Amino acid sequence: MDPELQRQLAERVRFYRELGIYDFYRRPLDIPAVSDFDPGPITDALSTTQEQRPTTETLLRVIREDIGDCTRCALHRGRTHIVFGTGDPHADLMFVGEGPGADEDAQGLPFVGRAGQLLNNMIGAMGLKREDVYIANVVKCRPPGNRTPEREESETCGPFLMRQIAAIQPKVIVALGATAAKFLLGLNDSMSNLRGRFYEISPPGAAAPSKLAVSYHPAYLLRDPRQKAEAWKDLQMVMRELGLKRK
Ligand code: SF4
Repeated sequence: MDPELQRQLAERVRFYRELGIYDFYRRPLDIPAVSDFDPGPITDALSTTQEQRPTTETLLRVIREDIGDCTRCALHRGRTHIVFGTGDPHADLMFVGEGPGADEDAQGLPFVGRAGQLLNNMIGAMGLKREDVYIANVVKCRPPGNRTPEREESETCGPFLMRQIAAIQPKVIVALGATAAKFLLGLNDSMSNLRGRFYEISPPGAAAPSKLAVSYHPAYLLRDPRQKAEAWKDLQMVMRELGLKRK
């Protein structure tokens, strides 16, 4: 068998296994190329084998194992820790930022510096605790000097985030800042145009789509606190969607 086809088939089988699908059959008349696999039946199969679906914790652990001691993009060179993500694997609400900063790189956890403190306050204002939500970034290694991740870096690391989203299946995702919004939505627009409405995203393997709202990155709010009122409007929109009330 062609080595590339063999690699693609192995990748596809592993993907199905992560979804909890272990039984395969061969078409009687021909053997389809990998590209013939329509992604549609994945969801159908998932719904019919729901009882076989691994736990979200297992799916997240497999994703973390797949990342391993990753050197897939240049960002690995300057990192201390891979920052995978943290929080409730069954959270209804997920926050996605751009990438780790110095504090996050040092501790291996997302949003633990000053911006993280502000994010904690924002979550608290919604009547939730940090442990109630899930927090992750588009890239899992710190870009040097806290620069914006290059498109290639986001595209290399981003599929791990999409798998995390498919595993957690949050009802609502808040993209914090333009980089996260652009990656998740595939849209290149201004923050003012992106904010104020819900989008839907459905990563491969997700049983249901998640709603997505765009808001400001807490680091930006630290630089321009006047925008906090606008960010609060975004969070109130999310609270209405989730039926949350301030305590
Ligand atoms: Fe790997 Fe992501 Fe780190 Fe790049 S940013 S080295 S893809 S874990």
